[in-house]
Amino acid sequence: MSAKTPARWHPLRRVLQVLCGLLLVALPLTNGLRLDVRQGVFYFAWHKMAAHDLMLLFWVAMLGVWALVAVSFLYGRVWCGWVCPQTLASDFADSLKARLDKALRARRGRAQFVLARGVWSLALLAMAWGTGLVVASYWLAPRTVGRAALHPLADIPAALVVYGLAGLVAADMLWVRRKFCANACPYGAMLGLLADTNTLAVRYLDERADDCIRCGRCETVCPMGIDIKQGAGQMECIGCGECADACDDVLGKRGVAGLIEFRYGVQPERMPPALTRAQKWGLWDRKRGAVALGLLFFAAMVAWQMFGRVPLTASVLASGAISRDARAVRNGYSLSAVNGTPQAQTDVISVDGLPPGAVVAPSVLRLAPRAALTIPIMVSVPAGAVPAQTRVRMRLRVRSPQGQVLIPTFFYAPAR
Ligand code: SF4
Ligand code: SF4
Repeated sequence: MSAKTPARWHPLRRVLQVLCGLLLVALPLTNGLRLDVRQGVFYFAWHKMAAHDLMLLFWVAMLGVWALVAVSFLYGRVWCGWVCPQTLASDFADSLKARLDKALRARRGRAQFVLARGVWSLALLAMAWGTGLVVASYWLAPRTVGRAALHPLADIPAALVVYGLAGLVAADMLWVRRKFCANACPYGAMLGLLADTNTLAVRYLDERADDCIRCGRCETVCPMGIDIKQGAGQMECIGCGECADACDDVLGKRGVAGLIEFRYGVQPERMPPALTRAQKWGLWDRKRGAVALGLLFFAAMVAWQMFGRVPLTASVLASGAISRDARAVRNGYSLSAVNGTPQAQTDVISVDGLPPGAVVAPSVLRLAPRAALTIPIMVSVPAGAVPAQTRVRMRLRVRSPQGQVLIPTFFYAPAR
């Protein structure tokens, strides 16, 4: 008897799924990605930013949406089968159920069956509880989430979020699982619109149909319960490659290559003898090149929003409020400043170029992280220090911990 053919895709998929699962847990706990709605803070790529920084949020959202579009357009359902947490949860639930049934020799109508399903349900509830904590940590501080999970009455709104999410995950893992992928997933519907003849898909090689021994293994291993021989691009197919591994194994024992492959949607007669490097990465046509360029553009915009901002920008407009009395001449201005850093800033405002005794009020400006602010300010000069009906060139100085901005403007002294 020939040796078993080692699976090509299953081990790779499992490694990637585990890594993605660990990343999903690590991101909120290490502040890699988290929108803390209570503290008004947005963490992205381990940088702390203000949640009201709408430009940054916009570009991060655009990058995320475009990345999903690009992956779907080039690689089809690879996201579903290899990365999506819903598939990870379904695979875990199905695999645990099969292992428990085997270990306890569970069969319907026997006590072992009830025991196997009981253990399975408890394990899924525990996992759903942990997943609820992790998902809630994307929106609340992990410490808050932990406290709400252990002492729900101490923080009822947070506890409702944690236990609400855990309940949803539990219902999904116990009853929904792959039904969601097949019937309700909006991403699946989007993929139907995006995929075309050059999108990567799992394919049955019709041109070699004579080699098929009709063993049905590709159907029995399919987690979605479909028959890949009916054609590529079926709505339910999650691109997991389990059918390809099964066919490799069945036909490998007969010394024949498997009949199921990951293929870009190229027809056999159009298939070049060797793929170029760009084709290997899925860049088969100009449309795909444009999508990849779009991805680079959005990544560059996010990087610019994060690292390319000037720490402090400021401008001033004379408000026209000019007055004079026995003690001082006063000019009003409107000062606008933008904090480009992810930290709160306390800036000092002062004036250059005016006679001694000139003061500005307020002299301190507090800016939230990545925030813009416009405030009225008043510059006062002792009455005897500036002659009537003169215009003095001056500079407003706004000094932040990272540097300073000097804004040229004028100070008017009206007639007595
Ligand atoms: S047809 Fe193959 S690739 Fe598609 S879901 Fe089923 S086993 Fe996975
Ligand atoms: S596993 Fe391969 S040989 Fe068996 S039915 Fe499927 S395609 Fe045919």
